[in-house]
Amino acid sequence: MASADELIASMDQSGVDSAVTFGFSWAEQGLCRESNDYVLESVSRWPDRLFGFAVVNPVAKGAAAELERCMHRGLHGLGELMPDGQGYALDDPHLDGIIQQMAHWQRVVLIHGGEPVGHGYPGKSKSTLQFFYQLALRHPEVMLVAAHWGGGLWFYELMPEVQQAFRNVYYDTAASLYLYRDDIFALAAQVVPRKVLFATDYPLISQQRFVRRIHESQLSADAVDSILGGNAVRLLSACPTTGSLAPCGRWGTGTRP
Ligand SMILES: [Zn+2]
Repeated sequence: MASADELIASMDQSGVDSAVTFGFSWAEQGLCRESNDYVLESVSRWPDRLFGFAVVNPVAKGAAAELERCMHRGLHGLGELMPDGQGYALDDPHLDGIIQQMAHWQRVVLIHGGEPVGHGYPGKSKSTLQFFYQLALRHPEVMLVAAHWGGGLWFYELMPEVQQAFRNVYYDTAASLYLYRDDIFALAAQVVPRKVLFATDYPLISQQRFVRRIHESQLSADAVDSILGGNAVRLLSACPTTGSLAPCGRWGTGTRP
């Protein structure tokens, strides 16, 4: 789909300093491992620019060991998990097991999300609002990122008890341009200002096009800074290998992801 060299070239073209990257969430664990090897290699080639996540299939034999291997080697999170595509039920205990493992590592878990309404498309997920809510209740200590705005999940942070349950839940913008009006950036920045993480779905959408749309969205300078890196720095800084604002010691003064 895209090589690390292509990703770096696209980032250069778009003025993007750093990116979190990962392989596709394959159903076949061997392919996950191959993807992880490539991500590990890429992160070591560009240690200042790429942060890698591991992919595993939670129900596959060897998933837990593979996750341990990737965390030991310094990857920053797990994901993007895709229950529908990888072939397990949303309440499969193996999913809870693997997330519990990430609680131990205190690193990020990214899960594909989908809207419970609207048009169908390849990859439209069954992991919607209720799934994320139950997951957050079961794993309140885990830093959870709900991809694709969590299918609108952040709206419910207007409910106090949900806001409490979602205190460690973040929302990424991946594929937003395909799904929502750009008004969503300002609305989400109002409701969950410290929790919106810029993401593209690259190579489906280039960083350049997406960054331009953020800048055209009439957001305050603070909101733009938060979405385009500030929030991600805070989240990744929670990585216990760092113990400071600099995730794994990589951020120089004035550098943003
Ligand atoms: Zn996704």
